[in-house]
Parts: sequence; structure tokens; C-alpha cells
Amino acid sequence: MAKNSFYKTVLMDHYRHPRNKGDLNGADVVRRGHNPRCGDDIEVGLYLQGDKLDQVKFRGRGCSVCIAAASMMSEAVTGCSRQEAHHLSEEMHDWFGKGNGSDVNQPPDDLQALSAVREYPARRRCVLLSWDALTDALEML
Ligand code: ZN
Repeated sequence: MAKNSFYKTVLMDHYRHPRNKGDLNGADVVRRGHNPRCGDDIEVGLYLQGDKLDQVKFRGRGCSVCIAAASMMSEAVTGCSRQEAHHLSEEMHDWFGKGNGSDVNQPPDDLQALSAVREYPARRRCVLLSWDALTDALEML
């Protein structure tokens, strides 16, 4: 499917050139996510300004899906309020927890490329790992 191959190109670009990946010095909160099934191991750091996520960064190692998803997550929630970020994380869990064709809300455009992974349930953890770490981090605040 043409759309899916476009999505895969987007994912590979995020994997090869991850956004917001680097050290987490000075982060207000850092949470780690680990997926033993795949060997994914990342940390997500939040930098707050008031109630807003001024910057969201991550570091670590993971498969292409994990790194691409973390990169996209960091872009998607930067600038969000804590509540908005929490809500988006819940939507992602909804979206990935249900099969294709069910009427769940579609995620924002810049996360649509992850739908290329929805047909591989085994990779769900790889996508949601960074979102789980984000949710954990938000709950620490
Ligand atoms: Zn993985």
C-alpha cells in the first residue's frame, strides 16, 4: 500500500535522524522504559516551564520502531501542557490497543506514520515504551 510505504519512510527517517535524542542533563524528571522482549531500553526526560513541557528528550537504545516512536513522541508532546501530554499518551494506548477498523480517535497527523506498525501486534510495546515512560514521568511531577 502506497500510504504504508510512505509511513515506513517517515519512520526510517526518525530512526536514522532521531529528534530530541541526547543527554538528559538538567531534566526535571527522567523515567526509564525497558522492553526485554526486544532489548529496547530508553529514558525519557522532561523539561518543564510552569505547566508546559518546554522540552522532551530521550536517550538509550532500541529497535528501529522504538527509536522512531520515541523521536515522534518527543516532537508531539513538546509544547503541550502536562494534561495534554497525558491525554495524548492515553489516545496512543487506545489507538494501539485496538485493532484496525475500530472507531478510535485518530492521532494527530504527525503521529499517523506509526499506523504502519499497527499491523504488527508484537511491536506494540516498542511503540508504547516511550509513551509509558512519558506517562510515568508525568505522574512523578
Ligand atoms: Zn523494539
